[in-house]
Amino acid sequence: MSAVIVAIDGPSGSGKSSVSKGVASRLRYEYLDTGAMYRALTWWALDKHLSPDQVADRLDECAIMSGTDPEAPFVTVNAIDVSEAIRTPEVTAAVSAYSAVPQVRTMLVEMQREAAANAGSGLVAEGRDLGTVVFPDATLKVYLTADVEARAQRRAAENAQRGQDADVADTHESLAARDAADSGRAVSPLQVADDAVQVDATFMTLPEVIDHVTALVQERV
Ligand code: C5P
Repeated sequence: MSAVIVAIDGPSGSGKSSVSKGVASRLRYEYLDTGAMYRALTWWALDKHLSPDQVADRLDECAIMSGTDPEAPFVTVNAIDVSEAIRTPEVTAAVSAYSAVPQVRTMLVEMQREAAANAGSGLVAEGRDLGTVVFPDATLKVYLTADVEARAQRRAAENAQRGQDADVADTHESLAARDAADSGRAVSPLQVADDAVQVDATFMTLPEVIDHVTALVQERV
């Protein structure tokens, strides 16, 4: 029997990671942070001083591995653990440009489908194009969003915990820029899948969103 696939898409700062990890833990499913894969690729490209139009020919030098335990997610590049390094402002500012490269997407989408094929009972995967492109037959597709101000406040609080710029106005600007780049690109832009359930988390607490999405999964399995 193939695994239950829960595809959670949405813009930056909507709480996708916390919600996806929470739902996966609750249901004892595996978890895949596809944004971390695009970030890892970007970390590698910046480290090698490769511009977005130079990466396509060098992708065979970049071996990315993602852990799928929702309690202990990690990502490595060429066996180096970059789980922390991919969250720097430099990687965040550059990731949209590298993730718009078609060959990058082809490579990472293949890895994402492989993770689903190897998942045990289920996989909760989060990203931008999971319901629209990567897993068109997912058991459940959720489009998680929240008001941009609420997202900026949430992301600024996370930045503060990492000792990074926690200014809400700066964070708002960087989120809006990334939303525009991710929604406006030619390949696999951020879009709501026709059959996605839209969840607006602006006025919901994290446990409420996790309960709601878990219930949606349980209705379908
Ligand atoms: O989810 P996160 O904010 O970590 O994603 C980082 C970036 O990776 C996004 O801004 C987007 O450019 C890219 N991404 C993507 N497709 C996905 C997941 C992330 O293009 N499925």
